[in-house]
Amino acid sequence: MSIGIDLGTTNSLCAHLTAEGARLIPNALGDVLTPSVVGIDLDGTVLVGRAAREFQVLHPERCASTFKRQMGSDWKIKLADRELDAVELSSLVLRSLKADAEAHLKDNVLDAVITVPAYFNELQRQATMRAGKLAGLNVKRILNEPTAAAIAYGVHESDEDKVVVIYDLGGGTFDVSVVERFEGTLEIRASAGEIFLGGEDFTSTLAARILESQGMVFEHAELEHPLLVSRLCRECELAKRQLSRGEDAVVRIPALTGDLPDGGPTTTIRREDFEKWTDHILTRTDSPLRRALGDAKLKREDVNEIILVGGATRMRAVRERVARYFGKEPKCTLNPDEVVALGAAIQGGLISDHSSLQDLVITDIAPFTLGVEISHEFGGNCRPGYFLPIINRNTTIPVSRINRVATIYPNQPEMLIKLYQGENRRVEENLYLGEFLVRGIPRGPAGQVVVIRFTYDLNGVLEVEATVVESRLKVRHVVTRYAKSLSEAEIARAVDEMQSLKLHARDETTNRFVLRWAERLYRELPLRERDLLEQLIFLFEEAMELKDVAAIESNRDILHAFLSQYGDGYENRDNQDAADE
Ligand code: AMP
Repeated sequence: MSIGIDLGTTNSLCAHLTAEGARLIPNALGDVLTPSVVGIDLDGTVLVGRAAREFQVLHPERCASTFKRQMGSDWKIKLADRELDAVELSSLVLRSLKADAEAHLKDNVLDAVITVPAYFNELQRQATMRAGKLAGLNVKRILNEPTAAAIAYGVHESDEDKVVVIYDLGGGTFDVSVVERFEGTLEIRASAGEIFLGGEDFTSTLAARILESQGMVFEHAELEHPLLVSRLCRECELAKRQLSRGEDAVVRIPALTGDLPDGGPTTTIRREDFEKWTDHILTRTDSPLRRALGDAKLKREDVNEIILVGGATRMRAVRERVARYFGKEPKCTLNPDEVVALGAAIQGGLISDHSSLQDLVITDIAPFTLGVEISHEFGGNCRPGYFLPIINRNTTIPVSRINRVATIYPNQPEMLIKLYQGENRRVEENLYLGEFLVRGIPRGPAGQVVVIRFTYDLNGVLEVEATVVESRLKVRHVVTRYAKSLSEAEIARAVDEMQSLKLHARDETTNRFVLRWAERLYRELPLRERDLLEQLIFLFEEAMELKDVAAIESNRDILHAFLSQYGDGYENRDNQDAADE
């Protein structure tokens, strides 16, 4: 059984392909969105999703979120007494999604297609693959998110050829891709984006403005009063969503302890002001948009359709800006949170050769220029540090390209091939991907030729082969930061190590979530309502203590109904405008 997974910065989703098309898979709470938040509970078990997000408000030191931004880097975080990196945290989210899919489909789930932003580099793609492996998944394909969205929108099924722009503003990343449907094929012509630009920036800018009005600086407050900042960010998140529907929103300002006392201070934010304060963030989407169109050699008038993807495209300012730029209204008929997972499920079906999808041909592109370091000669002096591109950015993949380099001094016995990706002339400004040594170059004058072949496959994995022309000697190198941990035994060890972290029992998810939600709300409620809540929590805890199944269920339902009056603040139910237009 194969699933498609949208491993998002803010939320993750999974879907599978049925005879009726792609369908989302609900988690243990019945939701299709699982917040990409991981926490280590007080008993050492791992919380994932909404329970972790609730837990994070009161225990930020035991929780991690937005770690997708750190994929492929050396970043680590200490939660309770355990250090975890972004790959390990992502693997916990994937493990939880896998368990949900298995419970829903009543079958083992092994194969998965996982999506990544088109702008993800080699290391980030490799990191995503590794997270899948740690979660016990066989990652069939790493798929670009905009490609997945285009598939979900059925761009390939259209009768006419057309050019579509996929504008994807998620929680933490921005991607824009130009996709062309041409004679039955779907071709990604160009992609550009930014990995540090998304909806969270709008929330934190709003929080920073409010802190500033209280005489505080965001960065200092985050260190000195973490509870205040995490609570304020939550308030700002709610306000931001409110402003996608209305003209103003009220933000409650927490005390330094993070509490929201009765009758505490509030501030009203007008949409007009919010848009003014965050306009500089939106302006940053212009340059990737121009770059993608430029690389595809198209003008904005050539674009037939614009598809909006990502929760942050619900903001009116985003839609208005896109409509102004292209002179036509963008399309958002599918829920912008769900399209990527649906597309991934369809792609999963395509890989396992699902009969209804045999006609679909999808091509993809290399998002960056890939090449090697070379030296240039200036008046007899050799200067290293220059970049020789081998595969240019936005080349359709899979692709295999060659270029030639040569020895620079007589009898040079070996050559160090250093690999980089990026768009700069000098290698130090590009991303270093790895290196390997070519030994045994036959003796002779300078200028012995070595042919370098770069092969970039559909998963964005780069294989480099160097051939010494004279001796026909070949050296091969696969680019992965984790190359040394890719042996079966080492993967198994890493998987075992991650298994030592136990996810909380799936059938307890609802209990944990409701309890965490209740505890968080307890701190926020006015005193009168607090007393009632305290009684309801007590009855629920007592039933759990006594392991009385019927009492657990009835008390949980009562508590849940009480909590629901206040909402958990993240719903987009009344915000389904995207889907309705
Ligand atoms: P994604 O990564 O696609 O799940 O996008 C999540 C981002 O969308 C987060 O930054 C959310 O704050 C943002 N978002 C979700 N719903 C809304 C809304 N109604 N208005 C504004 N932003 C939203």
